[in-house]
Amino acid sequence: MGSLKVGDTVKMKYGGEAKVLAEFGSGGQGTVYKVSYNGKEYALKWYHKDVFKGKEKDFYQNLENNIQKGAPTKDFLWPLGITEVHAGVFGYIMDVRPTGYYELTEFFVGSKKQKQVRFKSFNAVADAAINIIQAFRELHNSGYSYQDINNGNFFINPENGKVLICDNDNVSPFGVNLGILGKQRYMAPEVVTGKNDPDKQSDRFSLAVILFRLLFINHPLEGKRSTPPCMTKELERRYYGEEPVFVMDPNDDRNRPVPGTDKNLKTFWPVYPQYIKDLFIRAFSSDVMLKKAPRVIEKEWLDVFFRFKASVVKCPHCKEETFISQQGNNTCIECKKKITVPNAIQFSTVTVPLYPGTKLMMWHADSSQNDVETKLGEIVANPSNPNMFGIKNLSTLSWKVNLPDGSQKPLAPGAVVPVKKDFTIECTTNPKDAGKII
Ligand SMILES: [Zn+2]
Repeated sequence: MGSLKVGDTVKMKYGGEAKVLAEFGSGGQGTVYKVSYNGKEYALKWYHKDVFKGKEKDFYQNLENNIQKGAPTKDFLWPLGITEVHAGVFGYIMDVRPTGYYELTEFFVGSKKQKQVRFKSFNAVADAAINIIQAFRELHNSGYSYQDINNGNFFINPENGKVLICDNDNVSPFGVNLGILGKQRYMAPEVVTGKNDPDKQSDRFSLAVILFRLLFINHPLEGKRSTPPCMTKELERRYYGEEPVFVMDPNDDRNRPVPGTDKNLKTFWPVYPQYIKDLFIRAFSSDVMLKKAPRVIEKEWLDVFFRFKASVVKCPHCKEETFISQQGNNTCIECKKKITVPNAIQFSTVTVPLYPGTKLMMWHADSSQNDVETKLGEIVANPSNPNMFGIKNLSTLSWKVNLPDGSQKPLAPGAVVPVKKDFTIECTTNPKDAGKII
């Protein structure tokens, strides 16, 4: 049984049959069909014959293990069931991708048929980054590595930053490699040079490339030096493996962006806050890329993107989205006018400037809870005096507000406490998570 036709049925390993309803599309490894199974619609990935080059048994076993273990987070379109082997060929079923999601590649380039997809807001960019990082953090914490992170695996909703990660059939436990090397331009240098098989560390390099492209569109290693008129295997090995150079490396300007092709990078590099750029500069420093220094871990990326998410507000002058990077004076990225931010809230690991629109998340108060979704509060302006700000309790818990005179007042869910210097707010059940207004 090679390719399938509409109406064909395929036996599932643990009982029942999947019936082919339509073909979704075909790729290098297999064809994806819409099928009906147990009264519900799924996507069936049906592998091409001989695609595993003798490793089909290992691959089948790995898929079965992954199905049993279950998805690390809801953001994975994870294998849910496996077919029996039919004449040496098999496949697995997963949920059908809902509408509104676009392949990450479509955010990078447009075509005549398909316009370049753009995020609706910087808030959606921040959420997409957080969702991708958290998905890989959970994957790594479950003892897996993805091994083949590239722009074809991610589907993103540009409205809200929700993410779906596909092609999870290559996901393997640490130390296991099924012959997957990854995709050129996303592979870590040590995989390109053949020093290592893909693993958690190489995933971290690929993740940095994906995040960089999410923000700046251009590729972090493709500049003047690394885009010769005629690319050879040897040059590719040098530019992506032996001697990669970051296009924005502050200590090495050999690989600066090629003028004319760097429109997005030129637009967005000056716009993003320095602390985000600093983490990319570290992730793509020669030492980190060549593993002479540790790779940036997921927690570090999350800290930075939560800081960034809190900073996205509407400019009071031009009403466009801008960032508040610090207490004191900020400049709108659109109209360049000054925005003054009188106060900030200081938690144990991060200080968040307070401006109407700022969202305080559980992550800011206590990242050890590993909660990337819960909103604690939002900064609002006083309707009768827009220069006076308050923090609205968006949580389900009554907060404790400690005043400078030593007294304490409760703040019910939905209520607002004025932003005043030296107020300390306990916004979780743990007093250590309290934030002090400065
Ligand atoms: Zn403005």
